[in-house]
Amino acid sequence: MHHFHHRHGTLHAEDVPLTDVAARVGTPTWVYSRATLERHFRVMDEAFGQHPHTVCFAVKANPSLGVLALLGALGAGADVVSGGELFRALRAGIPADRVVYSGVGKTERELTEALRAGIRSFHVESEGELEILDALARGMGTRAPVSLRVNPDIDPATHPYISTGLRTNKFGVPLARAAALYDRMARLPGLRIHGVASHIGSQITQLGPIAEAAARLVALARALRSAGHPVTEVDFGGGLGIAYRDEVPPSPADYARAILDAVGDSGLHVVVEPGRVIAGNAGVLLGRVLYVKQAEARTFLVTDVGMNDSIRPALYGAHHGVVPVAEPAPGAAQATVDVVGPVCESADFQARDRTLPLMHPGDLFCVMGEGAYGASMSSQYNSRPRAAEVLVDGGTLHVIRTRESYEDLVRHESVATLPPPAGGRS
Ligand SMILES: *Cc1c(COP(=O)(O)O)cnc(C)c1O
Repeated sequence: MHHFHHRHGTLHAEDVPLTDVAARVGTPTWVYSRATLERHFRVMDEAFGQHPHTVCFAVKANPSLGVLALLGALGAGADVVSGGELFRALRAGIPADRVVYSGVGKTERELTEALRAGIRSFHVESEGELEILDALARGMGTRAPVSLRVNPDIDPATHPYISTGLRTNKFGVPLARAAALYDRMARLPGLRIHGVASHIGSQITQLGPIAEAAARLVALARALRSAGHPVTEVDFGGGLGIAYRDEVPPSPADYARAILDAVGDSGLHVVVEPGRVIAGNAGVLLGRVLYVKQAEARTFLVTDVGMNDSIRPALYGAHHGVVPVAEPAPGAAQATVDVVGPVCESADFQARDRTLPLMHPGDLFCVMGEGAYGASMSSQYNSRPRAAEVLVDGGTLHVIRTRESYEDLVRHESVATLPPPAGGRS
């Protein structure tokens, strides 16, 4: 469900025609719908009903302050994976006691910042991290709330680059090692055992792996409690998929039921860390056709949307819908095209071999499903300033990130003062 539809022949975000966005902010631009973001958050939150729970939005999916502030105001917490994301979550007004911190490579500086902030839980991913965190917390005269991130060794049946819960992945510690590590944690005075955590992968479209992982986590939590450890919370991670094309992912209601079935009467507080399912279909990337290039075997729509803006098609072979802003007349001519960008890489495409209504230079279009892992994965490759981001609320457009300038490209750079090159011209 989202709020991007043709109305009177023009694609709108809620009540704002995307032609207005292009005229006011230019292209390429990310356009988010407030109503869609709120609806997705509420549906997930309400799916857990009266069971004590916290929905921690995965900041890496969309770290825009404007998006985080909106979700935070609805009651969202944050799942962060770096000191930078912690900074953003706090800056957006998300209370520290709703922030959980995952990641295999937290530095001492990052751990210290999170201790200072007083976050809800550290999701510790290795024995080495336990020791460092214990020492840092003791040095600060405090105790760090800790949940071990366990790896339940479950195949989430998704793209290998976004599978994280297999034995061969770098994330978490093996389930079989968990009990011994909790015994160890109980003896470290800088730590306070809080819960159990996991995250098995992303864009999961089947309930089976989610239910199986949930059962294993809850069984672990129960066993730990029987052994005397004060485990009060289980964090099931994120990963619920969305429909980019014809996928039929489980609904948030089915997802929550699978988790709550596993939790049963254990009384455990539930945390989930959805990213994509909240933001993915709540954003589009608005671009413009620059050229239509007829090559020998193909037709290329050359556009101003580059892989530096949206890398998912190049990185994962991801499918994203491409929709012209001007609604094609019924039965209008179509062409099979590659939608490519200006970046000097053959992987610079948004769609390949796609049959689309005919488009011409100057025409606007949207890449759909760009609200998650779109702007957040963008770069300045080819020295392309990062695009603007706008949040639409009904008929109002708010710029939540201005387009970068050329000056922004070089803001942190300087020319080294070097002796003149030997034999160089003066
Ligand atoms: C990426 C990530 C998420 C979010 O995954 P989605 O598929 O976007 O829901 C949640 N938790 C952790 C630890 C992650 O790394």
